[in-house]
Formats: sequence, C-alpha cells, structure tokens
Amino acid sequence: MPDSILNFLDNDFREPRSRAWLDDTNPATGESIARLPDSGAEDVDDAVRAAHAAFPGWSSTPAEQRSKILLRLADLIEQNLDALALAECHDTGKPLSLCTRVDIPRAASNFRFFAHAITTTRSEFHDTDGVAINYTLRRPLGVVGAISPWNLPLYLFTWKIAPALATGNCVVAKPSEVTPMTAFLLAKLCVEAGLPRGALNILHGRGATCGGAIVEHPLIKAITFTGGTTTGETIARSAAPRFKKLSLELGGKNPNLVFADADMDDAIETSVRAAFTNQGQICLCGSRVFVERPAYDAFVERFVERASRLKVGDPLDPGTDIGSLVSREHREKVARYVDLAREEGGEILLGGRPPAQPVNDRCARGAFYEPTVITGLSPRCRVQQEEIFGPVVTITPFDDEAQAIEFANCTPYGLASTVWTRDLSRAHRVAARIEAGIVWVNCWMLRDLRTPFGGVKHSGVGREGGDEALRFFTEPKNVCVKIGHEAQGTRQ
Ligand code: NAD
Repeated sequence: MPDSILNFLDNDFREPRSRAWLDDTNPATGESIARLPDSGAEDVDDAVRAAHAAFPGWSSTPAEQRSKILLRLADLIEQNLDALALAECHDTGKPLSLCTRVDIPRAASNFRFFAHAITTTRSEFHDTDGVAINYTLRRPLGVVGAISPWNLPLYLFTWKIAPALATGNCVVAKPSEVTPMTAFLLAKLCVEAGLPRGALNILHGRGATCGGAIVEHPLIKAITFTGGTTTGETIARSAAPRFKKLSLELGGKNPNLVFADADMDDAIETSVRAAFTNQGQICLCGSRVFVERPAYDAFVERFVERASRLKVGDPLDPGTDIGSLVSREHREKVARYVDLAREEGGEILLGGRPPAQPVNDRCARGAFYEPTVITGLSPRCRVQQEEIFGPVVTITPFDDEAQAIEFANCTPYGLASTVWTRDLSRAHRVAARIEAGIVWVNCWMLRDLRTPFGGVKHSGVGREGGDEALRFFTEPKNVCVKIGHEAQGTRQ
C-alpha cells in the first residue's frame, strides 16, 4: 500500500498546496499507514477549475461512451478486488471478509448499474390536448461536489460518483479523512479506465476546511453528502443561501419491530446481523429492537446467545465477525453511551466493554468493543434516541401494533426500519405508518439499486438510487411546442 496519499486533480496526482499532511491510521493496530493531504480552499479551487474545464467535453460525450468507461472502471475494481479489500480493511478495521464480500463488490456494482442506467433512461412527455406537446430535457448540472463518510468508504463514495459521472457531470469529491485509501486507489483505476482529465477530481482533507470549501465554491452546482446529521445541518446552512441543489443522507436510529407471529429463527439471525454488521457502524443498522411481549423473553434469551457467539477478532482473520471500531475516539463515544445506559437504568446483558484480552499481539492497540445488548430502557431515553453508531443494541417489549408504531416513530430519525411478521395485512399496514425512507419486511439490507434510497426527518433530505439519482444529477427543462389551436379560452 502507498505510504503517501495524493490529491487526484485533472488526472494528475498532486500534493496539497499547503504541503500540510494528516495521518491515516489502521484502527485495528493503532499503526500509521499513510499520510494524506490536508487540502484547503486553494486545492478545492484548482479541482473545481479542472472540473469546470472538463465539463463541456464530458457532458457532450455520448452516453454510450461514458457508459463504456464506467463499465471498464467496474471491471478494474473487480480485477483489483483483493488489493482494494485489504486497503479498506486496514483503513477501517472492519473484517477483511466483509470488504471482500460486500464493500468492494458493491462499489463495482454502483458503476455498472449507473453505466447501464444511463443508456436506458428516458424522459417525460406531456400531450396538452392536441394543442401542444411538452417534453422534458434533462441536462447534467455542471460541477457537483460529493462528500462521503468513513463507515463504507469506497461503497458510498462510488454511490455518489457513479450517477454523477454517468449523467455527464464533472465531480469534485472528498472521501472521509479517516478512511481515504480506497478513494486514492480508485483514482489510479480511473486513469486506467480512460476517464478524461478533470471529469473526476478527488481531494483529501478535513471536513470543515476541505469539505467546507467544496460546499462554498460558487462553481459547484450541487452537493451530495452522506454523513452525520449535525454535519448535514452545517452543510445545508452553507448551501441553501447559495441556491445549490442538495442531497443529504444522514444518521439513523432504526427500529426493528418483531411481532410474536414472526419466523423467530430468521428474525433472530437477521436481527443480530442488522445490529452488529460492520461493528454496528452502518446507517441502516437496526439498533432499536422492539419485540411483542409474548415473544419477548424467549427472543432476548436467544438473541443474546446468538450474539455471544460472534467472534471479535483480528480483521484479517477469516473467522472474525466483529473487527475494530473506526478509531479509539469513536470507541470512547460508544463507551460513553454504554455508561449512560447504565445511568438510565439499563441492564447490560452482553458486552458493554472492550474485550478483556487483546484479540492478538498485532491488534493489541486496536479499538475493539464487544457486541453489546441492553434491555430495560425507555424508548424515550437518550440511549434509545441518539445515534451511537457502534455495536450496541437495545431490546424493548411492546404490547400491540399501535405501540410498536409509536415506539418506531418516537425518535428524530427516519432512515430505515424492519418489520417481522407472518401477517400480510399487518406488514403492509405497519410499513405504511412507519416514518422512514425504507421499510424491510422479514429481511434487512436487501438492496435493489433501482429503488429510492434516503431518509425522512433528521435522516436526510432527498433520495438517491435508480431514477432518483439520475434526476438529482440533472436539471429538467420543459419544452412546450404549440402544434394546434386551442378549442376555447387561453391556457395560462
Ligand atoms: P461526518 O458527518 O463526520 O463526516 C462525513 C463527511 O463529511 C466526511 O468526509 C467529513 O470530512 C465531511 N465533513 C465534516 N464536516 C464538514 C463540513 N463542515 N463541511 C463539509 N464536509 C464536512 O460523518 P462520519 O462520522 O464520517 O460518518 C458517520 C455518519 O454518517 C453517521 O451519522 C451515519 O449514520 C452517517 N451515514 C449515513 C448514511 C445514509 O445513507 N443516510 C450512510 C452512511 C453513514
């Protein structure tokens, strides 16, 4: 792996103008693995100008040609699967098996999906009673900014870049400064895939400085952001008076409702996965489990037993289920919430601490934390209201359908949710009343890239995925052509 990460600007690899650097650490070992640019407003300006200059060429490149380049990029990601997965593992501390099975293949899927979508997309047409025809032209926006988080680094970075590029925009993108490595490696593959100069520019740096300068830059027309709700608020405050198009994918505190008639084997197995995959650091994790009272005791017992068999270990070990959290600071935040749960009267049935022994010598300084199960908390206490973003799940009983919905909806968030029941009517009824952008029925994390993705309330604004992403990254223009005479009156 390279020990110096560089900005990717106009298909060149450059140091930051300031010559200032940040440190990239492997959280599983505590070792520094690379330095990365601490880019500022000058670097952002260089990148935006490169993107702006590239826009006329890239946006007028036929869709089929753009598609071919993105398909090549998808192939290259797959050909480099092992190297990318290892880099993601070192950067995040997550199990290598997860990077190999999910993170990197999904990054390739993102490019492949939007490469195909752009060749099959269509626009609207409205026939105005034979008097006029209206059609909608959809044109790329220009230069767009993409800012992504550390939890699914390449997966979410490409989730934004792929549709932006496919629709003919040029992009200035910033991965999280905590996990920059795979975005840097992607830049090299972009050159190999034949992406023209300036179409994609990748800058590294801190949120407030580098990210802030992207949001503020007058030539950037739209911002697609995935990250925390507080950051989303800061970005919205800066982007709104500049009239930028904004897509915000923010935090979650997702409810997982288990009715007593559910297939309990499946519900327990999947709920454990939903709580602890990626150490609970997925915005879609089911961190609040609610179980119908008659099934509650047995569910809790079996859930704890299943979770206790998850192996916390070296991310490189193929048998590891739970790797390191993304940093020691993040582990401290998680630990503070578990302390708060104790203060709020919660009972810690499993975990609630880092492993008693280091998982091995290599990982002695890693940011590991045991899968933690807490009961006995009110759905309205802070631990059940605030996003912890770690391997911590609460389980709470409910009495009936109305109360299940009330508990599901009682946080400021509304990203994803899961309902477990064999009662078809109830599944549809509850799905319609949950305040969330996504409802999974008898499953979790089953993704179809054509579906709208995003949240309500404090979980975000706007949708990405499928046609929604193609719409976000294009500006619609209605063209009205008069073709006949109006029968009566004047249309206005
Ligand atoms: P974060 O908000 O701290 O950072 C996200 C990105 O924003 C990083 O690249 C960061 O450098 C940048 N940033 C920070 N401050 C900025 C500013 N003032 N202006 C511009 N950019 C700025 O989030 P994180 O800690 O990296 O990620 C975890 C959060 O992301 C969690 O809240 C999680 O729920 C959320 N998330 C949401 C989704 C979703 O699809 N809704 C997906 C994954 C993660």
